[in-house]
Amino acid sequence: MHMKLTENIIIKVLGRRGRLKVDEFRVRHDLVKGKFFTKKNIITLFLQNKLYGRFILPKQIYGQIYSWKECNDAIFLKFKNINGKRRTCPFCGWRGKIFVTFHSKYNKIINNGCPKCGSFPRHRLQYFYLKKKLSNYKEINTLNIAPEKCMEKFLQSYKNIKYISCDIKAKAMLKEDITRLTFKEKQFDLIICNHVLEHILEDKKAIRELFRVLKKDGFAIIQVPISNTYKTQENIRFTEEQRERIYGLSDHVRYYGLDFKKRLEKAGFKVKVDKFANKLPKKYIDKYGLDSTEKIYVCKKD
Ligand SMILES: [Zn+2]
Repeated sequence: MHMKLTENIIIKVLGRRGRLKVDEFRVRHDLVKGKFFTKKNIITLFLQNKLYGRFILPKQIYGQIYSWKECNDAIFLKFKNINGKRRTCPFCGWRGKIFVTFHSKYNKIINNGCPKCGSFPRHRLQYFYLKKKLSNYKEINTLNIAPEKCMEKFLQSYKNIKYISCDIKAKAMLKEDITRLTFKEKQFDLIICNHVLEHILEDKKAIRELFRVLKKDGFAIIQVPISNTYKTQENIRFTEEQRERIYGLSDHVRYYGLDFKKRLEKAGFKVKVDKFANKLPKKYIDKYGLDSTEKIYVCKKD
């Protein structure tokens, strides 16, 4: 499946007209940042492996952040007919042979992102978890922090959900700093906060804020990347390079360990670490590209 991007395919993606400003694609590489490029430049740089980094593809295509290598896979999946469509995305209905591989400098996760809506295994697992829970409620005041397109659409499809999304910089309904939310105490029945805290220096403050705005009988799903060590690794003096190598990505400020549960409990949460993937039919793991070892951190007030 690892086909190289050909000129033809990239032109299909970028369109035949105009030029691209690379800034729009959040390319971090100094060589190309801020410059204008023609399609031909981009293709040449890409093929010479000089262009890499995380960037946003045109929204109408994926609506998610991908690296060039992921883009390569995603485009391949989009434009090539693949036999044996055994994988399905529960959010958008995409069907194909395999989900897109995630690449960072030191990491590679195969069968990961949905090429259509950008869902990751963690979202797809939560899809089934939430689907089971959400219809039990009459009205659910929901807060989605740093909303993912797939989650946003899914939650908004529920008539009983009053949906609010917020983020400090990316697109969301409200601009909010998670360490000092402007919401009232006990405002939300449901909070979804996926892979946010590992970016926040003052994560204890952020967890306390999530606790504050959650209703007494509500619940919050708070997910972070977790390593197998007990203790969370955190060193504020790390360089970007060290963060990428040790924490997984350069914008992560720590790598949580199994003591993550304790951190949540310190703010007052009662935490259930739900091995929900084990409760689903076995065939779901493969079919929907789930991570069978992933646990959902369900946080309640009592
Ligand atoms: Zn999808």
